Amino acid sequence: MTEKLESLNPITGDVVGTYPIDDADSIAAAVQRARALTPWWVSIGYDGRKEVLAQWRGVITRRMAQLAQVVHEETGKPHADATLEIGLAIDHLAWAAGHAKKVLGRRTVNAGLLMANQVAELEYKPLGVVGVIGPWNYPVFTPMGSIVYALAAGNAVVFKPSEHTPGVGQWLADSLSEVLPDQSLLTCVHGIGPTGTALCRADIDKLAFTGSAATGKKVMATCAENLIPVVIEAGGKDALLVDQDVDLAAAADAAAWGAFSNAGQTCVGVERIYVHDKVYDGFLTELTKAADGVRAGVGGQLGPMTMESQVGVVRSHIEDALARGGRAVIGGADAVGDRFIQPTILVDVPEDSLAITEETFGPTVTVTRVKDMDEAVELANGGKYGLGGAVFSKTRGAELAQRLRSGMTSVNSVIAFAGVPSLPFGGVGDSGFGRIHGEDGLKEFTYTHATTRQRMKPLMNLTSFTRGQKEDTAFATLLTALHGRASRVRGIAD
Ligand code: NAD
Repeated sequence: MTEKLESLNPITGDVVGTYPIDDADSIAAAVQRARALTPWWVSIGYDGRKEVLAQWRGVITRRMAQLAQVVHEETGKPHADATLEIGLAIDHLAWAAGHAKKVLGRRTVNAGLLMANQVAELEYKPLGVVGVIGPWNYPVFTPMGSIVYALAAGNAVVFKPSEHTPGVGQWLADSLSEVLPDQSLLTCVHGIGPTGTALCRADIDKLAFTGSAATGKKVMATCAENLIPVVIEAGGKDALLVDQDVDLAAAADAAAWGAFSNAGQTCVGVERIYVHDKVYDGFLTELTKAADGVRAGVGGQLGPMTMESQVGVVRSHIEDALARGGRAVIGGADAVGDRFIQPTILVDVPEDSLAITEETFGPTVTVTRVKDMDEAVELANGGKYGLGGAVFSKTRGAELAQRLRSGMTSVNSVIAFAGVPSLPFGGVGDSGFGRIHGEDGLKEFTYTHATTRQRMKPLMNLTSFTRGQKEDTAFATLLTALHGRASRVRGIAD
């Protein structure tokens, strides 16, 4: 561990922290220390873990302003936005710790008629050590979606934060040390891609990855070497649908925030809007009004592009849209500065342009006129991603939401699902697979253990070489009584 990682403030370029880069050896040692702690962590049970996690929650909450400052310095996002993501992470921490016992604890299930002499039980056991690799855009909320659910389920965690936000990751691990001094329950390791690869190859039991689909594929390939299971929380190209019967000002207000907040660097940010023909002009007017006055800059509502290279990606999507006949209602090519990008609304953009097909991850949005909501659904479902989405409709919200191919959908609001701890979070297609948050998010970091316990002798012993013609006939009669009728009704047996 001789090389150093410098964390830079994206606005000033100042070095705000220096961290030793972890290699395979130091990661192996971290995983070993974490593993050594898991028997104790498991032994204190759900109630013991709930208590420790509650104390940690208290530490984070009391020092929220300090953590928000680290997030602000490393990502450039406004302090208030940093506080918002920390607040949501705290709420998830409370939910995961509070629900682990009920969701994962041992329970009895019906054994069924054939096995009526058995008591059937199942429980969800912790895997051991979970590796977490995180992105920089929500450096608290996003990795904590894996970390706190894994810990509440009884695992230890080794966490590699993004190289752009190492200070945030270190702060989180250090804050747990205040509750458990000298602990290895949550260890932070630092570095760029090779450190992530080393974590994938370490002696871990699962890897939870959040980042781009391209890196997700590499992570999955590396983990496959040792058959390590993965959760992949990748990018998105979320659509927002506007029906003809909505309050246009409210829909536009939400759409503007969904598209431009965090300077568009949100995996479930609104990147495409499909609007019913009858209200298209009115909605565009309202959206333009809602975006008016939203400025990127020091002290503005929008921070910089945290990653310098993202500026070029956003510029290329805008230029491609304009070159193919699109039009900028506000913003446009001139909106792209060195590090800050002003809100940009693009219209008349062909469906095969980059601004429609690829994740832009900047404060831009396309607005497209559709003849009806069927067309809106079809276009929204058209891409390779399927992360989140939103529907604005007074009368058809639930129906339209159901037809969207995405992991999460908000009706008449944006991104609300992320703040509901009981709802699972994750995508389909190039947005990844597996779930964090909610019951699914707890189970994701466990393996299921099923048990049968014989509570009395069976009426017919089927699993014995003493089984004879009498038992075989009785079994066939029972099966016919149980299932024969179903096949006759459906005509399969005839
Ligand atoms: P990224 O893919 O560049 O990096 C993510 C993490 O992977 C970083 O920690 C990085 O160091 C690490 N990494 C890079 N190469 C690796 C390798 N070969 N093996 C192992 N680890 C490696 O993504 P990013 O730029 O940090 O984050 C932005 C992306 O994350 C966007 O696509 C965004 O949509 C997505 N994201 C998704 C969610 C979600 O929940 N689905 C949430 C936030 C962000």
